[in-house]
Amino acid sequence: MIDRPHDELTLTLPDGSTRTVAYDTLPRDVVASIGAGLARAALAVEVNGAIQDLVTPLRQSGTFRVLTERDLDALSVLRHSTAHVLATAVRRLRPAAKIGFGPAIEDGFYYDFEVDEPFTPDDLAAFEAEMRKVVAEKYPFVREEVGRAEAERRFVEDPLKLERLSELGDDEVISIYTDGPFVDLCRGPHVPDTSRIKHFRLMHTAPAYWRGDERRQQLQRIYGTAWFNKDDLEAYMRRLEEAKRRDHRLLGKELDLFSTDQRVGPGLILWHPRGSIIRNEIENFERDLILRHGYELVYTPHVVSEKLFEISGHLITFKESMFGPIEVEGSNYRPKPMNCPGHICIYQAHQRSYRDLPLRFAEFGTVYRYERSGVLHGMLRVRGFTQDDAHVFCTPEQVPQEIERLLDLVDEMLRVFGYPYTIELSTRPEENSLGTAEVWERAERMLAEVLERRGQSYSIDAGGGAFYGPKLDFKLIDAIGRKWQGPTVQLDFNLPERFGLEYIGADNKPHRPVMLHRVLVGSMERFVGGLIEHYAGAFPLWLAPEQLRVIPITDETRDAAAVVAERAKEAGIRVTLDDRAQTLNYRIAEAERLKTPYMAIIGKREMANGTVSLREHRLGREQRPQVIAADELISRLRTEIECRALPEPVPASEPRQESAAD
Ligand SMILES: [Zn+2]
Ligand SMILES: [Zn+2]
Repeated sequence: MIDRPHDELTLTLPDGSTRTVAYDTLPRDVVASIGAGLARAALAVEVNGAIQDLVTPLRQSGTFRVLTERDLDALSVLRHSTAHVLATAVRRLRPAAKIGFGPAIEDGFYYDFEVDEPFTPDDLAAFEAEMRKVVAEKYPFVREEVGRAEAERRFVEDPLKLERLSELGDDEVISIYTDGPFVDLCRGPHVPDTSRIKHFRLMHTAPAYWRGDERRQQLQRIYGTAWFNKDDLEAYMRRLEEAKRRDHRLLGKELDLFSTDQRVGPGLILWHPRGSIIRNEIENFERDLILRHGYELVYTPHVVSEKLFEISGHLITFKESMFGPIEVEGSNYRPKPMNCPGHICIYQAHQRSYRDLPLRFAEFGTVYRYERSGVLHGMLRVRGFTQDDAHVFCTPEQVPQEIERLLDLVDEMLRVFGYPYTIELSTRPEENSLGTAEVWERAERMLAEVLERRGQSYSIDAGGGAFYGPKLDFKLIDAIGRKWQGPTVQLDFNLPERFGLEYIGADNKPHRPVMLHRVLVGSMERFVGGLIEHYAGAFPLWLAPEQLRVIPITDETRDAAAVVAERAKEAGIRVTLDDRAQTLNYRIAEAERLKTPYMAIIGKREMANGTVSLREHRLGREQRPQVIAADELISRLRTEIECRALPEPVPASEPRQESAAD
């Protein structure tokens, strides 16, 4: 309900009490009436779930909550306000800089500037110092609501702001915020004044197109971070350092796992032999797992007639993400962006009876999707990737038990990689969704009921579903606490409709099956990229490209070393014999650099006793090698491989020494 001017508003506080205030009252005054201490601590308020600042007039009745530094929700207000302080500082030092947008983002904020020369690290240091002055000057964030003509006058020197202004509808409130010398066209919210911003850091600068559009001018984006206290800021900086050390692009190169090549094209991954071993192990493990869970393997073509995607609806809803058509004999073909239509055609190759269901078709299916080159990122954002895709066709009554089965499968899969996870239920998107509201609600309820019955906690991502059905999204939590996209289970009442899928029921009449789409790792590329960072390149033994390196100390022990290597190989262990003429230290250092889990070093004493001197990568540089019998070494490694043991966690606070060489 929209309250009209001159109405009284009723605000409901968290304790259930209510306040009646006049339309256009400032939240600041309401907060002051609650208590002086709260007024000093207040940063913003939440009205009906939407955050607004203390100087934006109240125009709605509803719930009213005061946000202080103790509310995580207030962080985005702090960060966006810090972006204003950055722009204030930049404009003081570079009056000619034109301003773009400055939103809060995860863990921080950015602000875009149009300048002739890119910013340097020295510029950033100068801006940060200037920001500290703006903070010390304690400027209030003053809000003004103005008419269009006045706004145009105020931003006459800022073409990007004028462009934004021209897009605002006639019924939209135009608000302007000023902190000291700086004025911005902005909707808010902001903290009360610049002195509330204390713990921040400018991070780096990068070019960015105006509105993300590569046909528009290039701006310079400055990224920063801001927190409510020093400890949080420091913890964040340490987390960043740790993430940098684990960057899969760096480790992928160092460990010789994958590469890209401009001649192949951006966003298309070349899997090197060492990386392919990891992928192949995962695929083998998963194939065995899903066969046990009642799946059947299928293969479908990479290039498919466009007609199929007309039927599936992808050409309507997914066209922007598809590679363009390829003409063959007068018909258009496309690299497939999804595997579902192919699996549907396999379903339709026979008449299906209720006795055949559920059918579970699985494929390691490579798909191609267009992504702008600017957003490609190592293995995580690519243009070609392999999904561990599967589609379950079942009767409506079988859906709950199939969801249960999938939840078991997901759990079994993720446990092996050592990922804790969270579950999100994503509901109907506001735009571009197929099917009726009733069908969606039924599907959403079904998913929620299964989760609740199992006692599994989940959150709701309202509007986050795909266009064809609600879904369960699993978010993996990695070794340094970051969240990654994991398995998805998607209910689909729509594609069966579009393709006219049928099965013959017990009543001898045709019925429509339900379809479930599911992936476990999702994209093999993204999953392995994530694993590289999760394990910091030190893979568990079953995934390690090289599991054991055998190193004879001298030429004399070379044959004995070769025998140990041969026996390990026969036992199915991935082993290398390093009998090169380099020094022992040099060879140990190289095995360490490749994060080889085990090294068996063989000197004269070991040769005489049938033992090896064993080094473990995870124990670091300062370790006393263990002397064990060669047989024992082999059986120990076999056990570790077979049970897919997870690596011992490496403490993040003490950087490891990777080299044994001095
Ligand atoms: Zn703002
Ligand atoms: Zn699918």
